[in-house]
Amino acid sequence: MLSKEKKVPYLLLTPGPLSTSDTVRSAMWYDSCTWDQDYKSMVTSIRNKLLQVAGCDAATYTTVLMQGSGTFGVESVLGSSIDRKKHQVLILQNGVYGKRMGEMAKILELPHLTYEVAEDKSYDVDALEALLKQHPSITHIAMVHCETTTGLLNDLEPVAKLAKNCNKYFIVDAMSSFGGIPIDMAALNIDFLVSSANKCIQGVPGFSFIICKKDVLQKLCKDNAKSLSLDLYDQWHEMEANAGKWRYTSPTHAVLAFHQALLELDAEGGVAARTKRYHQNQALLAEGMKALQFESYVSKALQSPIITTYLEPATIPGTDKDFKFADFYQHLKARGFVIYPGKVTNRNSFRIGTIGHLFPEDIKRFLQQVESFVRA
Ligand SMILES: *Cc1c(COP(=O)(O)O)cnc(C)c1O
Repeated sequence: MLSKEKKVPYLLLTPGPLSTSDTVRSAMWYDSCTWDQDYKSMVTSIRNKLLQVAGCDAATYTTVLMQGSGTFGVESVLGSSIDRKKHQVLILQNGVYGKRMGEMAKILELPHLTYEVAEDKSYDVDALEALLKQHPSITHIAMVHCETTTGLLNDLEPVAKLAKNCNKYFIVDAMSSFGGIPIDMAALNIDFLVSSANKCIQGVPGFSFIICKKDVLQKLCKDNAKSLSLDLYDQWHEMEANAGKWRYTSPTHAVLAFHQALLELDAEGGVAARTKRYHQNQALLAEGMKALQFESYVSKALQSPIITTYLEPATIPGTDKDFKFADFYQHLKARGFVIYPGKVTNRNSFRIGTIGHLFPEDIKRFLQQVESFVRA
C-alpha cells in the first residue's frame, strides 16, 4: 500500500489518465451518497463551473455529466443527436479518435460520411466546403480538436465558420484540449462539445461531460437515443429535474476529485494560465528532444501543447546501438517518468504528454533522464 506521505512512484507523461495533484487525489478520501443533498449540490456546482470554463451563459448552454470514459460521452452525443431517418453526419478524420467516431456511426447505424486526411495533415476547408455542397443531406459535422493520436491540433475556426454558414450542427471532441486550450463555444457556435474528467481539468477517470446548447439538446435528443445508458437527453433531464442526481450509480469519488480539480484550475489562473504552462512544458520538451536528435512527427505549425509524437529512431541518437522502445520506456519508468507508445499508422513512434500536474521543472528532470539513456 502506498501511504499518502510517500511520493508517487512516477509521473505520467501521458494524455490521460494523467498525473494529478496530491490534493485532487486526497479529495476522494470519503464515500458519498448519490442522492444526498451535499453530493447533488456538488454535481450542480460542477455543471455550472464547466459552463464558466467554456465561457458560455447558462441561459443558452447546459452541461450533462455521463458515466464512463470520454468515448462514452462521444457515443452518447452521436447516438442521441442523430436521427437515422432525418440526419446525416460528416465525420472528419486524421487519427484514431476521428476514426472512432466513424466506428460508432457504423455500429449505431447512423447515416454518415467520412472525410479523411493523412495523420500529419489537418483538414482542407475548400475540400470540406465542396463536400457539403455535393451532399446537401449532411446535417451534422463532427470533428476532433486535438487529435491525441499524434498531438496535432485541428483548427476549429474554419470548420466552425463552414458549419455556421451552411447551417449544420457542429459536434466537437475536445477531449484532450478542453481546459488546456481556450475554446470559445459561443463564438464557434458549437452545439455539442465533449470532454472528460481525466484530461486537462486534471481530475481522475470515471466520467465524461457534454456542454451543449439547451434548445438543440431538447430538439434533437429527446426520444432519439440508440442506447438506454447513453441517453443524453434523459441524463440531462434527471440532472435538471432532480438537481444534480445522475441516472444510475454515479462515480462518486471521481466527482469529488473533479470538484477539487476545478477549484485548482481557478487557483492556477484559469484556462489562460493552464494553457501557458502546457505551452511552456511542450516548448521545453521540443527543444530538449531536438537537441538529443529525436525527430517529431507533427510540424511545428500544427503541434499542440498537449502531447508530442516522436519517431522511433533506428539507433540511439549519436550511437550505432539499436534503439529499443521497451528499454527506453523501462529506463524512464525506473527514474520516475512513464511515457506512451505511439499510435501513428505505419510508423514506429512514441508519445510524450505535457499535460496534467506537470511543470517545467518536471520536464527538465525528464529530459535529463532521456539524456542519461542516450549517453549510457
Ligand atoms: C482521450 C480521448 C478520447 C476518449 O478516450 P477514452 O479512452 O474513452 O477516455 C476521445 N477523443 C480524444 C481526442 C481523446 O484524447
